[in-house]
Amino acid sequence: MRKLGQHAWRLAVTLLGISALPLWAQPSRAVELARARQYWYGGLFWGVVAQLWMFAVLFWMVRSGWAVRLRDWAERRLRRRWSGIAAFTAVALTVLAVAEFPFSVYLGFFRERSFGFERQGMVGWLSDWGKSYGVEVFAVALAAVLLYWVLGRGRPWGAARHWSTAALRAWVPCVALMVLAVAIEPVFIAPLFYRYTRMRPSPLRTELLQMAHRAGIPAIAIYIQHSGRISSHTNAYVVGLLGTERIVIYSTLLRADTPAEVEFVMAHEMGHYVMHHIWIGTLFGAAVLLGFLFLSFWLYGRWAPGLGYRGLADVAGLPLIALLLSGMFFLAAPGINAFSRYLEHQADAYGLRHCPDPAAAITGFRKDLRTDLIDPNPPRWIVWWFFNHPTDAQRIAYAKRYCRRHGIPIPPRTAAVRPKPAPRSPPS
Ligand SMILES: [Zn+2]
Repeated sequence: MRKLGQHAWRLAVTLLGISALPLWAQPSRAVELARARQYWYGGLFWGVVAQLWMFAVLFWMVRSGWAVRLRDWAERRLRRRWSGIAAFTAVALTVLAVAEFPFSVYLGFFRERSFGFERQGMVGWLSDWGKSYGVEVFAVALAAVLLYWVLGRGRPWGAARHWSTAALRAWVPCVALMVLAVAIEPVFIAPLFYRYTRMRPSPLRTELLQMAHRAGIPAIAIYIQHSGRISSHTNAYVVGLLGTERIVIYSTLLRADTPAEVEFVMAHEMGHYVMHHIWIGTLFGAAVLLGFLFLSFWLYGRWAPGLGYRGLADVAGLPLIALLLSGMFFLAAPGINAFSRYLEHQADAYGLRHCPDPAAAITGFRKDLRTDLIDPNPPRWIVWWFFNHPTDAQRIAYAKRYCRRHGIPIPPRTAAVRPKPAPRSPPS
């Protein structure tokens, strides 16, 4: 009975995501692991609850006739078809954003603050939330106008084969917008939230550029994302398409990692770049989307008449399409994440081959537990469903095998211990 009580208490603490442990516990690996598990599993749990809640809201929009009434209102108020579609989308997105807000503020602000990651305060967080809401409304309304422009030029509702042409037609603007979004994101969207600068001349920059040169990358831009005033999470990534490609490194990572560890991270990112992972990921996403659009429009064709929609080109059906597509992507997460883990492993292998000190990969991954509260060895089903990178334990094991094969000494565990960066140090 007492054991059951302990389990219940641990579960409650994890689910509420209260980071109470370190208040009395001495910092040790066991305490760090316990905090990491609270952070990850509580976050995953509430993330899934938020997702199910959003499905419920979309289901209500479809089932209650709310979407049909909103379409009628938009048509009465706005004479132009495209402005009606944009207004419908903006109102529906606002309802969804309001419904999701309690989860957004809890997961994105209070929880991040309680675990010591959030740095900018409520006003800053709210302003970022407002900006991303604005970007989302603009982007989705634009996509909806394009979508119904493409669908509306088709023949009238009736013949059974129409759902397939609708899916194909819908796919074209979706893919075009996807590529456009990846291309413009680093130039127009990301700077709304973070300050970016080119990396200043330094021995590290010289080493990184030499590494890029040796890897056969003629000129890749390296940017620093000054994220330290917003969150203490560390990361690096490759973004951009069609000429906006760049490697971005968080200022927090530069402070937390040694130069050799940063070099491995950058070699990993260069691997993504050299192996065209952004294009491969975009094409993979486009292929999955095509399959899901076929399935969604097929179901839509069966259900639409009973729900009061006027046909394939009726914007009132947009919440149903959104519900079907988001449900499918949710259920397909294990497959999509497995593909992502495969690409990430390829980038790790490339990084080990091209960085000057492969042993730094091991010390760098060991640090993730401390700097980002990443559980190095989570349960297999969690990895299977949620992880888009291999676990740190798997990545360390692979790096160790690589080092052993090449006669490189494996750093002892103590080498990983380095204090977390100071909360208020100025951005580099
Ligand atoms: Zn990666």
